[in-house]
Amino acid sequence: MDDNSNYLHPQYETMSIDDIRDLQLERLQSTVRQCMKSPFYKKRFEEAGLKPDDIQSLEDLRKIPFTTKQDLRDTYPFGMASVPLRQCVRLHSSSGTTGNPTVILHTQKDLDEWANQVARNLWMVGLRPDDVFQNSSGYGMFTGGLGFQYGAERLGMLTIPAAAGNSLRQIKFMTDFGTTAVHAVPSYVTRLYEVMKESGIDPRKDTKLKVLAIGAEPHSEEQRKRIEDMLGVKAYNSFGMSEMCGPGVGFECKEQNGLHFWEDYYIVEIVDPETLEPVPDGEIGELVLTTLNREAMPLLRYRTRDLTRVLGHSCPCGRNHIRLDRMRGRSDDMMVLRGVNIFPIQIEKILMQFKELASNYLITLTTDDDNDNMTVEVELEELFTDDFQRLLKLEKDIQRKLKDEILLTPHVKLVPKGSLPVSEGKAVRVIDKRKVYQ
Ligand code: ADP
Ligand code: ZN
Repeated sequence: MDDNSNYLHPQYETMSIDDIRDLQLERLQSTVRQCMKSPFYKKRFEEAGLKPDDIQSLEDLRKIPFTTKQDLRDTYPFGMASVPLRQCVRLHSSSGTTGNPTVILHTQKDLDEWANQVARNLWMVGLRPDDVFQNSSGYGMFTGGLGFQYGAERLGMLTIPAAAGNSLRQIKFMTDFGTTAVHAVPSYVTRLYEVMKESGIDPRKDTKLKVLAIGAEPHSEEQRKRIEDMLGVKAYNSFGMSEMCGPGVGFECKEQNGLHFWEDYYIVEIVDPETLEPVPDGEIGELVLTTLNREAMPLLRYRTRDLTRVLGHSCPCGRNHIRLDRMRGRSDDMMVLRGVNIFPIQIEKILMQFKELASNYLITLTTDDDNDNMTVEVELEELFTDDFQRLLKLEKDIQRKLKDEILLTPHVKLVPKGSLPVSEGKAVRVIDKRKVYQ
């Protein structure tokens, strides 16, 4: 592949919308045939009185029932496989904190295609075989580890499986190995930067960093900008989920104008989570994905529970693959407090506007005197506890801005930097200690 090309897979990346739709129909039909080899889908189709031949157009997709996380749980571990187990070479599983864990199986071809997707993304943001890629995300069952590992290797980069944690060692790797690109969850990037500062390392001067891939957890535009300013590099949003393989499903191009979801690999639908009817472009709804290129465990109309909206279909970068807004969170991240629906990301957006505040925050919900309350603890960038007037004013200002955004007044607590817990995986932003009324 010519390093000067903007596209790793020009024949797919630059397809016209019409050609994308033709390819999608062809791949949908073969995916449906593949699904008939899975006991689960075979039964689903029979129950719905549907035959593979009934899918003659992309609109016919809507005849197919949705697949949910519960279906994955009910068929745990192998009930959704569309190939015999001996053809599978990898299994990933979610944590399963609520009920059965879920299992996703991969054939060698699935893994190859997954690596191609990730390589495409990294190429899209300017990475080439001369780059050095440090993957500072968890390995093991978390798909951000192996997913980026194989994708970066597929592109041809020197790839360092640093995994998350041990920040001093991470930074030593970066400086010693000449790391030019890092992948990590956004909350961990902030942590890395803090440790750099403490050890007198200036990322602009002492490292060769130029690109960050951040994802796996919701983060606001404000958070991204902060990260870019801290490290002096571009930070690109990366979307993935184990059910769809892992990272590689959606990624921002250099325009940073939304996530390109790869329509040669997925069919994207945005539906109203209540009625399950499609919502018009631009309106927020639940993301529903159908895999188009998977062998071991194709999924039809999978309800991701992630909320987003369509931003557009074409892009100055020359790719016509659908662009989606950054995720607001999953419908299950939504807090309902005194009847108001609130997403943690709304709170983050406001906090990040205050330069006095650092990036780590924690939302705690409690019931006091039969009233639901929210406390937002946030770390101060610099400690100025001797100036009470200033602290008090800052707390009030934050409270007022939060109220404008979420329509109720939370308690705001400013705490010293480093006092809130940091996670090496996905950040825990909300603790719900409310009484549950039956
Ligand atoms: P788990 O289900 O155990 O959290 P996954 O890695 O499969 O493990 O998580 C996928 C989910 O992570 C997505 O459904 C989405 O909610 C979230 N996610 C992944 N990437 C992003 C991103 N770039 N922005 C916001 N949320 C993301
Ligand atoms: Zn683009």
